[in-house]
Amino acid sequence: MSLVVVGSVAFDNVETPFDKIENALGGSATYISLAASYFTAPVKLVAVVGDDFGEENIKLLEDHDIDLAGLEIVEGEKTFRWGGKYHYDLNIRDTLFTDLNVFENFDPVIPEKMKSGRFLILGNIMPSLQLKVLDQMNNLKFVVCDTMNLWIDIAKDDLLKVLKRIDLLVINDSEARLLTDEPNLIKSARMIQEIGPNYLIIKKGEHGALLFGEDKIFSAPAYPLEDIFDPTGAGDTFAGGLIGYLHRTSDVTFENLKRAVIYGSTMASFCVEKFSTKGIEDLSSIEIKSRYLEFLELSKVNDDE
Ligand code: AMP
Repeated sequence: MSLVVVGSVAFDNVETPFDKIENALGGSATYISLAASYFTAPVKLVAVVGDDFGEENIKLLEDHDIDLAGLEIVEGEKTFRWGGKYHYDLNIRDTLFTDLNVFENFDPVIPEKMKSGRFLILGNIMPSLQLKVLDQMNNLKFVVCDTMNLWIDIAKDDLLKVLKRIDLLVINDSEARLLTDEPNLIKSARMIQEIGPNYLIIKKGEHGALLFGEDKIFSAPAYPLEDIFDPTGAGDTFAGGLIGYLHRTSDVTFENLKRAVIYGSTMASFCVEKFSTKGIEDLSSIEIKSRYLEFLELSKVNDDE
């Protein structure tokens, strides 16, 4: 039973109030695959890069036992590039540029051996591409999807088609409001579930995440970090930890999704402690487990009065 990850692999320029980096490894599928690789192996990556991608980046992914048979390398073209700048309030980010490069003509082809994958995560890419991927898969058990405000603005019809074919949407609070035109998150969540997905996670940045499904709501805290260097990829890393854990346990009930949300938050907390993917390149299972247990303690209440 395998886990297929589709999304962007990128070079990012990131500016925060504390520092600045250029040409750092990024992309939705990169963060998802790295985070998921701590739970299950091999993660199967489907994406596209240019011939500028670099051996060291290939090696990093291979060292995490990520199967790159679905990583297309286009000769003579450049890898997707994205630039973002964070405000003093790190929850606010401006996109400085998006250079599609190889993405302009990307037509995702799922390698034959990956088509029977049971778990699929559609990272943040154009919804029309997410649909092309769904069309090629033939044995899906659980599909998670991420998206962003850009696609809600310019490709809503395709996005709505995607939502009808997935099990879990991971979205942030402002995107949920934009998608449904409803300011109240609980009502917005119900509206999104009516469109399609049985489960929904609304991320609220440093305020944690809400999980909806089976007529229940679970509220997870965020890890109270004092030093956040680069929030880039936190959402993708959250999704990667979540699907990695779901795949390892092969249990997609609400109770297990609750654990998966905490594992996702755990991985996201490591991600934001360093620039680019550095925070999730070299973790041990003991570190992950102990932060997971700290997370559980955060909102545990002893009720024996
Ligand atoms: P997050 O901080 O979780 O929203 O993810 C940031 C990552 O998403 C960066 O590494 C970017 O390279 C990637 N990204 C940004 N915009 C897009 C886009 N339009 N399509 C695909 N990936 C993108």
